[in-house]
Parts: sequence; C-alpha cells; structure tokens
Amino acid sequence: MNRKARVKTPDVKLLPERNDSAQCPAGAGPRTLVVQVDFETPLQYVKGVGPVRGEMLEAKGLRTVGDLMAYAPFRYEDRTNVKSVGQLAPGELATVIAHVHSVRSSRLGRRQLGLFEVTFADNSGAKILGKWFHGQYLANVLAPGMQVALFGKIEFDSYSRGLVMMHPEYEIIPDDDDPEAFLHTGRIVPIYEAASKVTTRVFRVLIHRILETLGGLSDPLPPTVRDRMRLQDFWTSLRELHFPVAGTDLRMLNDFRSAAHWRLIFEEFFWLECGLALKRANVRRQPGVAFQLNEAVREKIKAMLPFKPTGAQKRVLKEIAEDMAAPHPMSRLLQGDVGSGKTLVAAEAAIIAIENGYQTALLAPTEILATQHFFYFKRLFQKIGLQVALLVGSQSKSEKQGIKKVVGAGLVPMVVGTHALLEEDVEFQRLGLAIIDEQHRFGVMQRLKLQKKGVTPDVLVMTATPIPRTLALTVYGDLDTSIIDELPPGRRPIVTKHVTEDRIEQVWSFVGKQVGEGRQCYVVYPVIEESETQAMKAAEKMHEHLSMEVFPELQVALLHGRLKPDEKDAVMQRFQRGEVNILVSTTVIEVGVDVPNATVMVIEQAERFGLAQLHQLRGRVGRGGHQSYCVLVTGKLNDTGKERIRTMVDSSDGFYIAEIDLKLRGPGEFFGTRQSGMPTLRIANIIRDREILEEARSEAKEFIEKPPSQDALRAAIDFIRDHWQRRYGLVQVG
Ligand code: ADP
Ligand code: MG
Repeated sequence: MNRKARVKTPDVKLLPERNDSAQCPAGAGPRTLVVQVDFETPLQYVKGVGPVRGEMLEAKGLRTVGDLMAYAPFRYEDRTNVKSVGQLAPGELATVIAHVHSVRSSRLGRRQLGLFEVTFADNSGAKILGKWFHGQYLANVLAPGMQVALFGKIEFDSYSRGLVMMHPEYEIIPDDDDPEAFLHTGRIVPIYEAASKVTTRVFRVLIHRILETLGGLSDPLPPTVRDRMRLQDFWTSLRELHFPVAGTDLRMLNDFRSAAHWRLIFEEFFWLECGLALKRANVRRQPGVAFQLNEAVREKIKAMLPFKPTGAQKRVLKEIAEDMAAPHPMSRLLQGDVGSGKTLVAAEAAIIAIENGYQTALLAPTEILATQHFFYFKRLFQKIGLQVALLVGSQSKSEKQGIKKVVGAGLVPMVVGTHALLEEDVEFQRLGLAIIDEQHRFGVMQRLKLQKKGVTPDVLVMTATPIPRTLALTVYGDLDTSIIDELPPGRRPIVTKHVTEDRIEQVWSFVGKQVGEGRQCYVVYPVIEESETQAMKAAEKMHEHLSMEVFPELQVALLHGRLKPDEKDAVMQRFQRGEVNILVSTTVIEVGVDVPNATVMVIEQAERFGLAQLHQLRGRVGRGGHQSYCVLVTGKLNDTGKERIRTMVDSSDGFYIAEIDLKLRGPGEFFGTRQSGMPTLRIANIIRDREILEEARSEAKEFIEKPPSQDALRAAIDFIRDHWQRRYGLVQVG
C-alpha cells in the first residue's frame, strides 16, 4: 500500500525551487536537484513549478503530485508518423508539423475582424494556411522559422485556392537541442487542458519529470481483484496514461478506453464503492431498534389506508418493514416518480414505529411542503386516533416552545417539520424513525444531525426526483434503495404540449375553458439563477395581466418566495379549497403540492428549467380523475433546447427524463445545488464510464462482503482512510 517514491537522492528532501537556492543544503546545486516527491508533495515544491505556477495549478484543483498524476490528458495526438503538408486532403481531421513560413494580419472589411493568417510549410514544399479571426495576439506568439504542431480540420480555401485550417489548435515545438523535445514530437503526445499559463507543453514536461523521480510504485488494488479483472498494474497505467507506448490504438486513448484508462477509472470507482459499502456495513452493525410488524400493527395500517396500495407500494413497504424489523438501523432511499404514492408508504412506516412505542419525525425542505405533509398525515391519522404536530420556522416562539415540550415529553408520536426540527433544543422522547423528504436539498450532515436525535433511529429518505442509477450508485451508494415504479390506478397520462410565446393567447383560451369546466390551473415562472426577484416580477406582472385583462371574472392568485410563510399558506389553502381558479407562481410550488382538481400546468420560459424540474412541476397536475395538461411555453429554441422540450413532450417516465437531463447538463448541475454530496472524481466520469462503474461496484461489494483475507480487508480500509475518505466525504470508514 505504499505509494511513496523510491528515493533517488536520499540526502535531499523536498527542496524548494530554483530561486530559493540559499536554503539548499551544501553541495546540492539548484540546477542538478532531483527532488524527492511522493503523492502528497505539494506541487509548488516540485522542481519547475514554484509559487506562481503552483497557484495557477491550484486554481485548477491541482494541489499535490497525486492530483497532477491523475490529471488525464483530454486528447492524444499521434505525432509518430504525421503526414507531410503535401499529403493532406480537405475534409480530414489531422495533425501536421510544419514551420511558420510567413505571417500576415489584416483588417477584414468594415467589421474589422482582425484576421491573422499564417502560412506554414514543411520539407514537402507544400504550404497550408492557418487562419484566426481576432487573432492579433498571435503576432507576439508565432514568428517565421518556428516549428509548430497544428491540429484541426483541413479545408479548401477558395480565397487562396489552397488548403486552410481555421482556428487550428497549435503548439510550438522546441528546437531539437531542447533535451525534452522528444516529449512533444515523434510519439503519441498527450494534450492537456491548460491551467492559465501552464500550457499543455509545460504539463508534459512536469509530469514526465515527476514520473521519472517516482519510479515503480506498489499497486494499491487488492491482487485478487486485479487478477480477476485482468487489470494492468498501477505504475504502468499511470505512465501510459500520460505517455502511451508506440502503437497504442489512438481511438481507444481518445475514448478513455486504453488499458491504462480502464484500470485507473476502475480503481477510482472501486475505492469509492468500497467506501460506500463499508459505510453501509458499519451502519448495519450498529445496534438499532427491532420494530415488530405484528397483527396489531397490520390492523392499524389497514384502518388508516384510504385506498388499496398498489403492488409497488406493497413491495416497497415490505422492504422497509424488513429493515425496520432488523435489530440494526435502516438507511433506505425510497425513490418514485411524482405522484407514485411515496407519502402513503411513509405513513405506513410511521405507524410501524409508533405502534412499537416510538416517535416518528418527517423532515421537509420547505414550509409549504411540511405544512402539506402535516395536513396529509393529520387526515390519515385522524381515523386511527393519532396526533400529529407541526414545527416550522415561522411559528411564534411560544408556539414552537409548546410543541417542543410535548415532543420532548413523548406526547405526540408524529412530528412534521422543516429545518426547525434540526435545532439543538429539539429533543425527542424516543425517536425511532426519521423520514427525510427530498433528500438532495439536505446535506449529508443534516441527515446525520437528525439521526443523532434518536439512539440510532431508522432513516427513510424519500426523493421525488428520480435519480439515474449511476448517480444513485455514487451519491446514495451507502443507502439501500426501494423504487415505486407504478402509479396508482386510474391516472390518465398528462398531455404535454409545446407552444411558442407568440401563441400564448391560445393557451389562455384553453385555460379559460378548463376553468369553465370547474378545473384549476397553475402558471409558473422560472427562478433565474440565485435571485427570485426577476421571476417574482414576471409573475407579478402576469398576475396583473391575467387578473385584470384576460380573466377579470376569475380568481387569480399570486404565490412567490418573498411572501411571508403565513401568506403563502393562506394562498395555498385558498387554492386547495378551490377558491382560486388560477395560481400564478414562481417555482416555490415545485415540490409536493397536491391539488387533485388542478388540471393545467402552464410553464413560462420552460427552456430555462432543468428537465427534472419540469417533470416535477408537471407532476403537480394529473393527480385526480380528470384529464390533465402541461403546456411548455418557450421562446425560440436552439438544438439542445429543442431536444430537451421534445423529451418532455414525448416521455412521462421520470427515470428516462432524469437520464437525459444528466446527459445534457452533467452531474454537477443535475441536483442544481453544490451541496449534493457528489464525490469529486478525478479521471472517472459517471456518464461516460457507467459500465465500468457497474463492474467496480460489484467487485467492491464482493470484496467488502467476502474479503479474501482479513489482512487484505484491513489494508484496503487503511488505504481508503488515508487516501479517499476526505475526498469522498466518507465519514467514519472502517
Ligand atoms: P408522491 O409523494 O410519490 O409524489 P403522493 O404520496 O403525494 O405521491 O401521492 C400522490 C397522490 O396519489 C395523493 O393524492 C395520494 O393520496 C394518492 N395515492 C397514493 N397512493 C394511492 C393508491 N394506492 N391508490 C390511489 N391513490 C393513491
Ligand atoms: Mg410527495
């Protein structure tokens, strides 16, 4: 497990850079230094880096030698036998090495585009033109005589009647007498994303030097896993990631699928999944409450249920009940599309805890949602004589105090609330089950906080955003998963239409018709960026327009985040009671609102929403027996915009939509919040590498559950603790 480097100059340790030579031990001249580095060495102490470059690298997230070693090239070029200029043909994507023959800058027409043209030539005698618009700055970069590697598309230029590359990527190749020239030509060359002034060429030199000093490293992966997966060893992989051997398939390299890539990606996922598996195993080992699911409990549940549960609800409840019956804490994620009936399942689980003499807490991300859950539970529990309490920030101090008192005394079995539930002075008499709705809005820390309020209560996390499997495996890998994949019976699929802004009048006439039939309607505006102000203004304006001009005879209400909580509640309750026909709102209504009589969801500027969010909003209608509609109003769309809207119109499958959203926006954006607990992966990418993730996960699971030996397991745990715990936020591994 030792990743320490082999020491080349044992008497010199972590020597600072060139200009600090005064501090060097006697006899070690600064130019001949070979600095002993290991993976933990801060880059700024590495020869050739120093404080200035060190800062540039750090801005890119590269702080240590280990970070740099894992900095994978984003592309590779085969510069072994590059074509000569004379061999190039229009249409191909090519690398060519040539020298600058002449440069010319010109102002193009009235628009002053500042065209910079360079003629390149090589020994074949042929010439090719490079053109850069706004390329004036290149006058200080490219000068006649310089050797340059160019990469780009070869085209035919009708002006010069010759070959041209528009805005090619270029790299100046040092003279042959540069001792490191061999790194940049005559081989498969790695291309790195520059970090400020640290160019791809500097990266190549730095990484090469470090690889030289590191020497053969021992392989951290357990040999059993490496053998079974036939993985290349660590050291070879690291070297070949940066400097592939001659003859390596260029396409495999550029697809991140060379043997080196595969192994390093696998390894990253493997440790992550091992960490998550350990965390799960840990929780399972802790003592917890063994809730009994006896006849009495079953009777209570039956008495509460307003409908027959769907098959999926039954299956999921069984999974939950089994977890709750075990003498260890449950950590389970309950996933289900909007309207699939998760809340009902949560209520059943609550009864199991309550009938066993414990309290249940339900944590919701917003007051509206908490309030709504509160009323939902109250309605359900009334029939069986159970009390429910609500605790939210907007309540008066004395009101809160009173509730805390009865909760602390164990006088209410069920408490619903927002973050207010997490405050220090909220104490439960016997918290047995914590239900967390819309998990991704709460950080992992908050999950732990609530968990600490009981001895070790069972935790059920509910999410209404279907989470693509790859994300679920990485973000929620420490939780067991239950999925409700069936909607309650009698639901009619929602009809989704796309309408451009100029046809909005037709939308209003449709809304009018629906209201005429007794239905209700939402009109939603996106919250742009962090500020709700703009959306609020748009919503206010539209509220005025709709209530004064379009529907003067109807009740049009306005809801936005700046309203006081009790005002919000008042509006929501009027809508719920059917006193409001049209509710104009910002996205505060996104989660959980349940008004079965609402049948139309009009989403303005729909192109500004994420797909998962659109799907959430759409889920606010189609909750009753009436045919429901979702109208997506947009401006003119670009190609991605069209694809996104088309996905919404064509599909009502939340999991499919989530996958597309993930693909189009990337994992960072998916949850729309930084606090999502996404681990930072260095070389692996959960979208590109999902099949490797699956393999790594199953290997990790096997390894943790059936380790080849206790020593091997111990070694792995130590390795994770030393190298991965902080990065992956794996609290308490092993
Ligand atoms: P989710 O929380 O998954 O979005 P809810 O639990 O809010 O879904 O349920 C959506 C609606 O469907 C609610 O009005 C709920 O009462 C109703 N519902 C839930 N389960 C069933 C069922 N088995 N049969 C009929 N209606 C159901
Ligand atoms: Mg819900």
